[in-house]
Amino acid sequence: MRDKILRVLRGYDLSRVKIATLGSHSALNILRGAKDEGFETICICRKRESAVYRNFGVADRLIEVESFEELLNRDLQEFLRRENAILIPHGSFNAYIGKFDSLEVPIFGNRKLMEYEVSRDLQKEWFRRANVRTPKEFRSPDEIDRLCIVKYQGAKGGRGYFLVSSPEDFRRKAEEVIKMGLASKEELENVEIQEYVIGANVYLSFFYSPVNNRVELIAIDRRYEQIDGIGRIPAEEQLKFNLRPTYTIIGNFPLVLRESLLAQAFDVAERIVEVSKEIAYPGMVGAFCIEGVFNEKAELVVFEISARIVAGTNAGIPNSPYSYILFGENMYMGRRIAREIRLAIEKGMLDELIY
Ligand code: AMP
Ligand code: AMP
Repeated sequence: MRDKILRVLRGYDLSRVKIATLGSHSALNILRGAKDEGFETICICRKRESAVYRNFGVADRLIEVESFEELLNRDLQEFLRRENAILIPHGSFNAYIGKFDSLEVPIFGNRKLMEYEVSRDLQKEWFRRANVRTPKEFRSPDEIDRLCIVKYQGAKGGRGYFLVSSPEDFRRKAEEVIKMGLASKEELENVEIQEYVIGANVYLSFFYSPVNNRVELIAIDRRYEQIDGIGRIPAEEQLKFNLRPTYTIIGNFPLVLRESLLAQAFDVAERIVEVSKEIAYPGMVGAFCIEGVFNEKAELVVFEISARIVAGTNAGIPNSPYSYILFGENMYMGRRIAREIRLAIEKGMLDELIY
């Protein structure tokens, strides 16, 4: 597959490369970044959201579709190749498409590693090999003996997650979640039950640069989730109304870490990049996010990895403290991606960024 994509890339006019993405998630970030680095941009968006992308003026060309799956249509792919387009993947590529075998347009990054995000088993294997600390797992609801979080497969953005503390608790809440339409019966049969790690959540957005041959910390954020609203309701009312808040993501806040914790963050990021080369050639390229919790001992426990730009980096535009320290200019994930593509074109190393 990679050979096929590289053949497509060899047919490109590298002086006229355009940056393309789907209109959602972190598209504004990606498109603005591409423009800041001098690229023309293409945004493939759904009709109901096209006003957003027209309004911000960061898309030189808007392609309206009924659904994002149309990206796999032959005509659209042919158009993108004719335009010398490089696709920048984000959360919606996994959420709405998932399989990229029939997508014969060059993607920035490693499409094989993106598939790891949809399989918690593959991720666990990656963490194990990288010797990363992860939450304890419970194979069956019957084993639940402490506070646990119940999660689904794939990039669901926390939708419908719930907390349980015993097997009976699990069964009761699972039924409620189905009744509330937050998850299907099938999803509940394939859940992941993890020990709930009590601590401070962090989302560390790194960039692995083949051009600079280094791991760069671009931004850190924390999430604003639907459950965060529950703190505004007194405990008495929470109990009286049997409230069921969920972890559905609503937005993000920028964050700076206590400086002495950065060493742990880099250590984990570097080991994850190292192992990525063994599990999916050519390994990590570009944006990735390590999601975890600093526990009571201030140790980083990792519960998820995304091998692509995450939407939390939207809170790091036009820069985060870290990207500013590193670059001394406005730098954010969308722009960092475009910068890497521009430098790689200049140095004749674009092949190394594409899969
Ligand atoms: P959307 O286009 O907003 O539906 O997002 C596409 C996918 O990315 C969904 O699976 C969302 O849950 C996820 N997503 C969107 N925004 C964020 C965010 N700020 N943090 C984490 N996940 C997100
Ligand atoms: P995820 O889909 O894995 O990114 O998780 C979504 C949200 O669930 C996170 O932002 C956290 O608030 C929470 N979460 C997930 N796993 C854990 C865990 N093991 N311990 C504590 N909180 C978690």
